[in-house]
Amino acid sequence: EASAKIIDGKSIAKDVRDEVAAEVSRMKEAIGVVPGLAVILVGDRKDSATYVRNKKKACESVGINSFEVRLPEDSPEEEVLKHIRSFNDDPAVHGILVQLPLPSHMNEKKVLDAVCIEKDVDGFHPLNIGRLAMRDREPLFVPCTPKGCLELLHRQGIAIKGKRAVVIGRSNIVGTPAAQLLQREDATVTVVHSRTTNPEEFTREADIIIAAVGKPNMVRGSWIKPGAVVIDVGINPVEDAKSSRGYRLVGDVCYEEASKIASAITPVPGGVGPMTIAMLLSNTLVSAKRIHNFK
Ligand code: NDP
Repeated sequence: EASAKIIDGKSIAKDVRDEVAAEVSRMKEAIGVVPGLAVILVGDRKDSATYVRNKKKACESVGINSFEVRLPEDSPEEEVLKHIRSFNDDPAVHGILVQLPLPSHMNEKKVLDAVCIEKDVDGFHPLNIGRLAMRDREPLFVPCTPKGCLELLHRQGIAIKGKRAVVIGRSNIVGTPAAQLLQREDATVTVVHSRTTNPEEFTREADIIIAAVGKPNMVRGSWIKPGAVVIDVGINPVEDAKSSRGYRLVGDVCYEEASKIASAITPVPGGVGPMTIAMLLSNTLVSAKRIHNFK
């Protein structure tokens, strides 16, 4: 039976969304400005369409305006760039998000570079990522998923300063910014990745583990120091004949084992996932406040 505290991402994300909603209406009343998020979706990947739909619904639920552009898979890259430029110039838009992955004929770097950093609510612009990595610099935005991980730790009252943290995975969108955020908050951070030999030797020393790999149940109970805090970013479909969809979602951490050893753990689903969208809403609000100098 589980002994770890379950970190309820769904409920914490709701708190964040409620706070955003209150600020959105305060801003609207005070200066008549409604924050706006623009989403660009290219192609018809089902998962991407679902993410975009969820983001749109989430915007509505907190009173943020959403603008959507859908382009066919075979659109020229210039078409995407054109929409980005027009959103860059549009005063009703405070956040611009290009849903990834883009079709293979497009240059993702070039597209992400085109988003002006003041509206880069995904935090994927190299200037924002660079500032995140530098001391005494502040990014305008931090990528939503790692920010959500840190927000979970903060709101659970879990201390970071002086702790040993291990991040598993080093992607631009999750692992690397998660490691940088932890380091900025004075954790001692180790990053392990696909070329690390014996990653469990590192994780066993960790007070905090953030797993962002994409490998179902990779982190076993034996990888975890008793009492450690485990944040599981992974979202992996695994076959499940008992589910009506034929699959279910599991994390990168073997929850059954880990929840007996950790002191606190995020479930999948219902952990980091809901926080990602909540952070996107929060980033969009922060952007609108900054652009309109509203305190
Ligand atoms: P990527 O595939 O971009 O990165 C995976 C990382 O894991 C890479 O750095 C890779 O190493 C590393 N890795 C792969 N295999 C191993 C291994 N055996 N041991 C140690 N490290 C390994 O994935 P993302 O970062 O985009 O996503 C990670 C997971 O998080 C996925 O399951 C994804 O679905 C989920 N996710 C969840 C979100 C949410 O909202 N909750 C949002 C975004 C992602 P290397 O660099 O050497 O290749």
